[in-house]
This record gives sequence, C-alpha cells and structure tokens, in this order.
Amino acid sequence: MPGKQPYTIRGDLPRFRPTSPGEDLWLALRDMYVSDSESAYPTLELVDLPRWLEPPGPFAERHIDVAVTTTAYRLLKTAKRVQKEAALDGEATRSSAGQSLVEDHVWRHMVEHMEFAALDPRPRRVLPYLVYRSLLAGNADIGTQARATTLHEAQDPIDSQVRCYCCGDTLWSPDFETPLREISLDHIWPRTLGGISTPDNLLPICAPCNGAKEDRASWSVFGVVFDHALSERGGHDEERLLGLALHRRAAGALATSEYLTLKEAFVKLGPRTDVELIDEAVDRHFFNFRAHDAEKFSFTE
Ligand SMILES: [Zn+2]
Repeated sequence: MPGKQPYTIRGDLPRFRPTSPGEDLWLALRDMYVSDSESAYPTLELVDLPRWLEPPGPFAERHIDVAVTTTAYRLLKTAKRVQKEAALDGEATRSSAGQSLVEDHVWRHMVEHMEFAALDPRPRRVLPYLVYRSLLAGNADIGTQARATTLHEAQDPIDSQVRCYCCGDTLWSPDFETPLREISLDHIWPRTLGGISTPDNLLPICAPCNGAKEDRASWSVFGVVFDHALSERGGHDEERLLGLALHRRAAGALATSEYLTLKEAFVKLGPRTDVELIDEAVDRHFFNFRAHDAEKFSFTE
C-alpha cells in the first residue's frame, strides 16, 4: 500500500492507571492503533470487525476501543489455544519454554492476521509478552486473602453493609445469615482479558449485574452490544445493560482524567445513576443516553 502511513505509537495519550497485565496490553494496543494520519478509520479495517459490532459512522473514529478490545480478546484467545493444544499446565505455562511457545504463536498470529504487525516491527518486542502476562493473570483464581481484603475494604464504614458496585443493591448486612465470604466478586478488568485476581481489580457484584455484564471490558463494546440487542433481540434486560455501559464509560473517563485505577474510579463514582435520554426527538440509541455527570463523563457533543 504505497503512501499509506504506518500506525504510530502514541505514548502521550491520556490513560488510566493500569493494575492488570491485560490493561497494559489494552493500552499498548490502543497506542499502536491511533494513527496520526487523517485516513479513514484505520482501527476498523485492521481487525475486520463483525458488521454489527461497528459503531455507527460518526462515532467510528472516536471509539477505537471497540477495535482494541476485540483485538485483545483475539490475541488472548490465541494464547489460550496454544496452552490447550500443547497441554501446558500452570507450571509448564510459567516456564521459559512455555513462555517462548506462547509468545511465538501470538506473534505469528499477529503477522498473519493484523496488517500493522507486518508493517511495523516494534510490536514484536512488546505485544506477545503482554499477551503472555495477561494469560498468566487470567489463569489465577481469587485467593482467600484477596477475597477477604476486598470484602473488608468494601464494607460501608457506617452500617458495615456490602453493596453491588454497579447497581448499589445490598449484598450483605451484619444481620444476614449468609457468611460475608460467599459474596460474588467481579473482576473489574475481566479475567478473559488478562484481569488480575488481586484486591486492586475486585469489587462485590450482584448476580443480575454479573450476568448482564458477562466479561465485556469496554463501554463501547457494551454500547454497540446494547444497540444490537435493541434491534435484534429487543428488550432483554436492556436497561441494566445500558446502565452498566454508561457506568463503565463514566468510570473510564474519570480514571483517565485523574489517573486513577478503574476500581478507584468506580468507588469514587458510586453505583450507577439513572439513565436519561439526551434528545427526546431522536431514537433510542446508545450514544443518545447519559448517566452520572453529563458535563464531565458522558461524552455528549
Ligand atoms: Zn448489581
């Protein structure tokens, strides 16, 4: 492709404070995908998104995190496949032979399927290693100590209750019969995307929010999934999905503007607020909703 600009690494993009290897991977991919050139949506053509996953036209260039998140999933999937096919257990995966095997396959996948890897050799040094570290993080379960610390920190200092960080429902109170330790914890950055099982990446969550959230990391993926759900499935827990997406978008914006971890941002923001339509005359559509502080966190025009 003569005359086409290679994708440049932009280390100066605003970022949140990462705690998981998967977040390092995501931020590195995003830096790589941002092009200085004015050419049309380089991110979308790079990863060949399923049609329904593409944000609508005017939003496409701003919301590259759909492409970045999809790419991160694909790279992690490749690493998991290698681990499975080579029958690597935890210890073998952590060995240097296991590391080389995973990193080599990931790099080969990138060269075959991602145009930028063939154009620009710099990712060779960084991305396979970050994918490998993300694989290790995702392999680890939540330990007893991490669970206890997370729950202890999540208790309200006044009434000792534990609430869902997404919707605010009470999950535990001192007069409940169930033990505190049985409450579900959410990986704020999902394990499938290299989220680590330490208190920095864990918060209590209720079953309905956990079910609606699945393992989606990006608010824009939530958003397009929401739009898809509206058009294809119609109304399947759509308000909750929308609330989760807007909440995550707000937390991401807050974390980025103040250089916080995503957990710190969620805690500072509190559970999600009511969702409102921005323009009554326009259809229901992800980008036509807001929640939290409309000025600061909703990305409205
Ligand atoms: Zn909830």
